[in-house]
Amino acid sequence: TLNPTELKRFINLLVETTARATRRNSELEQELSTASKKISSLHDSIKEIEHDAHTDFLTKLANRRRFDKSIREALRASQRDGAPLSLIVCDVDHFKTFNDTWGHHIGDQVLKFVAGVLRKNTKGQDIVARYGGEEFAIGLPNTALADAMTLAENIRAEIARRKLVSKTTNEDLGSITMSFGVAQNGPGVNADGLFRDADAALYRAKGAGRNLVVPAETEERRSA
Ligand code: GH3
Ligand code: MG
Ligand code: MG
Repeated sequence: TLNPTELKRFINLLVETTARATRRNSELEQELSTASKKISSLHDSIKEIEHDAHTDFLTKLANRRRFDKSIREALRASQRDGAPLSLIVCDVDHFKTFNDTWGHHIGDQVLKFVAGVLRKNTKGQDIVARYGGEEFAIGLPNTALADAMTLAENIRAEIARRKLVSKTTNEDLGSITMSFGVAQNGPGVNADGLFRDADAALYRAKGAGRNLVVPAETEERRSA
């Protein structure tokens, strides 16, 4: 048995130990909360990095990396569901001349304008991307060639009729036009084949005078 002095010492020890444990506990809670804040901020950074890696800096559209991934997924889904999928590729006409005339900065503004028109004319599951310098691509799930042609024609007309004006000098910049190639998926057509078809059609649109929408020919695919 303990005498009163020993008992007192024992109780003091118990109180001290408990107090220490409580302090340690709240320190650990603090550390845990700091760590989980760090994790959540890292998580945000990762999401931001992922977003940037998939986004075109100038137009904020999807970039080519993102488009290639998305169109492949959409193509797989369309094959699975037996649904149509169309691809529009388009390219600004004589953009080198436009840049040479008005400068690269105004050229950049025009690319933003084009991006805005594409964004405005698409919705939902459509995939819109800046595919290269002055080239854009639109993936259209559940859309057959005829409907994709109509959409491309609407976009073409909207861009061609817009009178461009310099934001800084109010100078009249004239207008720009774009050429379009449109292709639809078919049995056994992969993403590369779809792009080949649409690109070949775009090439013909350029050759036929530009400011045009041209559909892919299915023979192209068979002979490819
Ligand atoms: P085409 O009608 O045959 O397409 O003629 P083009 O002059 O548009 O084609 P080309 O391929 O000869 O030149 C493309 C030009 O696009 C070159 C460059 O000045 C311009 N360009 C490409 N990327 C950008 C960009 O990010 N900003 C600006 N301002 N211009 C760009
Ligand atoms: Mg061009
Ligand atoms: Mg080009």
